Amino acid sequence: MKLRELFISVVAAYLAVFASSAWAQELGPHFRKIKEGIYVQSAREVNSNGGIILTQEGVVLIDTGQTLTDSREMLEAVKKLTPLPIRFVINTEVHADHTTGNFVFSPPAFVMNHEGASDAMRKADNPNRFNNPALSAEIREAGKGYRLVTPQIEYYEKTTLRLGERTFELLQLKNAHSEADTAVWLPNERVLFAASVAIPNSINNVRPFVTIPDILAATRMMRSLNPEVVIPGHGSFGTTKIFDDSERYYTLLVERVGAMVREGKSLDQIKLELRMPEYESWSYQERMPSNIEAAYRAVTKRS
Ligand SMILES: [Zn+2]
Repeated sequence: MKLRELFISVVAAYLAVFASSAWAQELGPHFRKIKEGIYVQSAREVNSNGGIILTQEGVVLIDTGQTLTDSREMLEAVKKLTPLPIRFVINTEVHADHTTGNFVFSPPAFVMNHEGASDAMRKADNPNRFNNPALSAEIREAGKGYRLVTPQIEYYEKTTLRLGERTFELLQLKNAHSEADTAVWLPNERVLFAASVAIPNSINNVRPFVTIPDILAATRMMRSLNPEVVIPGHGSFGTTKIFDDSERYYTLLVERVGAMVREGKSLDQIKLELRMPEYESWSYQERMPSNIEAAYRAVTKRS
């Protein structure tokens, strides 16, 4: 390479780096850059995380934001980052705070989640949800044009999506949070979108079909991938410590509920008496009864 060509290529590389960091800044305070071409959107700590992943052949989104305002913010961010289209949206669960914005992107994007997602979303949907006069004018405005878009592609247990230079492994998390939960693993980047099984510093809502052994199996499986960055369905991204904290919490909960069952206490008594002082700072304490019920099912083998 001639010196002049070398100089030009160095300047071009410098400009490319400068431009990408400038873009990250321009996306605004709700966006975090995880790695080159991988961003996360969230307006508040407890809100769901929306992922934006750029490839040479288009964009993949992970969930569509807590609210439709967030969905539209994600769409604007994608337009700033690339002229390429959004090709796929991967839903990590079925609940509205991850999926309501599907219609903003699909069509043209295809939506993916595990088998059972569409049925669950159809059952839970209220088509008039944004026509409620009790909602603020802002929310009703953001909800204009809302319609339910369920995954057009449902996989079973595990599938691989290859787009451009990137590989996305979609892994089912069974009975771990909603009727269909998907972890998204990028093996080359070692980035894991971990769905809503373990939320940092937060008590989770454990529904009747969710079991603690399945939650523990899901976090163990995700830890075994050895990710460098873990992005939970809600809250700050981090490392596999998110899984460690969750496992310690559920293990202690099952231990304490088990001891009380052996003392002959009823579920109602346990709900009244059980204390978890180690976790009093975690948000959503009102979800504790559903956690105690799950632990009770686990120790009495009624799960
Ligand atoms: Zn959820």
